[in-house]
Amino acid sequence: MQLYDTHAHFETEDDSSIAGILARARESGVTRLMAVGGSDELNRAAIMARNLRPDDVRLALGADRDQLSRSAGETLADIRRLLSANPCAAIGEIGLDFHYSPGTSRAQCDLFAGQLALADEADLPVVVHTREADDATLGVLDDVPWRHATLRGVIHCYTGDTPFARKLLDRGFMISISGIVTFRLAENVRTSARYVPDDRLLIETDSPFLAPVPLRGKRNEPAFIVHTAAFLAGLRGVTTEHLAELTSANALSIFG
Ligand SMILES: [Zn+2]
Repeated sequence: MQLYDTHAHFETEDDSSIAGILARARESGVTRLMAVGGSDELNRAAIMARNLRPDDVRLALGADRDQLSRSAGETLADIRRLLSANPCAAIGEIGLDFHYSPGTSRAQCDLFAGQLALADEADLPVVVHTREADDATLGVLDDVPWRHATLRGVIHCYTGDTPFARKLLDRGFMISISGIVTFRLAENVRTSARYVPDDRLLIETDSPFLAPVPLRGKRNEPAFIVHTAAFLAGLRGVTTEHLAELTSANALSIFG
């Protein structure tokens, strides 16, 4: 079985613990994963993971909704430098979270829009977080004056409803399902996870957070994606092998 974890963070810069996480992923059938940044620390650790296993690990660098202590211009200059110094497959994670930080909505939108423009310039897909910010996310996506590339991207760890999913699919996005789909109270996520068409569906761990049932509460890692894949396959009435194959093919098509 070949699994592609499209969203994993690394929180340590200790070579040997990153190597251990990558080795256990390999043993569980994770043949490829996306190491995702979002802050200075996460970006550095993602670069380390990629450098340890350049054949298996793809790299996304960016500034998430919490990186607002400096001006958007300074942060964007940093991201631009990182993009030119590293072989990135995507920009991320970027996006909006009005659940935890509604007070910074304006600044979040500016930083998000700036990085979408960088993705256009660099012709890279984007990895987008959106929480309690449906309208604002669509507003920013629709306002960016797309000049060079076409908008390509993933809404990661999807927890929205099906009408919002429809609007994102209509804009060309893929939708990535995390271990939340296995949580007892996440019926809305299961409804959306059934709704996404085969050719737009991705899976992810969002590790080290959100370990799936039956490992809920543990520190998540890419190896655990087998549980999410098996659960999602059952939900969609296909074999785990089939689910792994189609989500890997989708991930390869957008990230390589
Ligand atoms: Zn994330």
